[in-house]
Amino acid sequence: MVNIEISDNNTDSQEKPSMREYSPAQELFHNIPYIGMTVLGAIVLGVALGGSIWGIIAGIAYILYGLAGALWIMIFVCPYCAYWNTRSCPCGYGRISAKFRKKQPIESFSEKFKKHIPVIVPLWFIPVLVGVPFVIRSFSWTLLVLLVVFALDAFVILPLVSRKHGCKGCPQKESCPWMKDKSKPSAFSQ
Ligand code: SF4
Repeated sequence: MVNIEISDNNTDSQEKPSMREYSPAQELFHNIPYIGMTVLGAIVLGVALGGSIWGIIAGIAYILYGLAGALWIMIFVCPYCAYWNTRSCPCGYGRISAKFRKKQPIESFSEKFKKHIPVIVPLWFIPVLVGVPFVIRSFSWTLLVLLVVFALDAFVILPLVSRKHGCKGCPQKESCPWMKDKSKPSAFSQ
């Protein structure tokens, strides 16, 4: 069972920094790469397993993992973020998070980020680890193209949208492991 800590010094009225606000359309735009990765990953698994019942099960399981991963971030990372419960969260997670949890100390953001991001990192690698051996063993243009598109979305577009757009003006980017070292690849997009 997951234990959710609620800090004594939390308060919904904690001062919110003045930041850019995003419209629902812009929030949707920021979610597209993650949604795309989840859908493409599920298709890769389905095609790699030959459209069999196991392929369908694997695809559905991957999509559920993607949804659970987003929820995990909302529960365990967003409450520590300066964007929690504001329209300044680029993807809208911060406002959804406020439905489950109270505000937590922003000082713990970096620690919570590092602790919980590994939960969703396998999403980036499962389709590659499953798909590549199938392409090598029994070559398929369909699977190869799907893998290339998945990799482009997951490893190029998603980090680019996050770093160059959503996270660019974040007031806590100095303490964020994702933004601190821009030379290292990372998997977090929100
Ligand atoms: S910017 Fe990221 S960590 Fe902050 S509330 Fe939005 S999704 Fe959560």
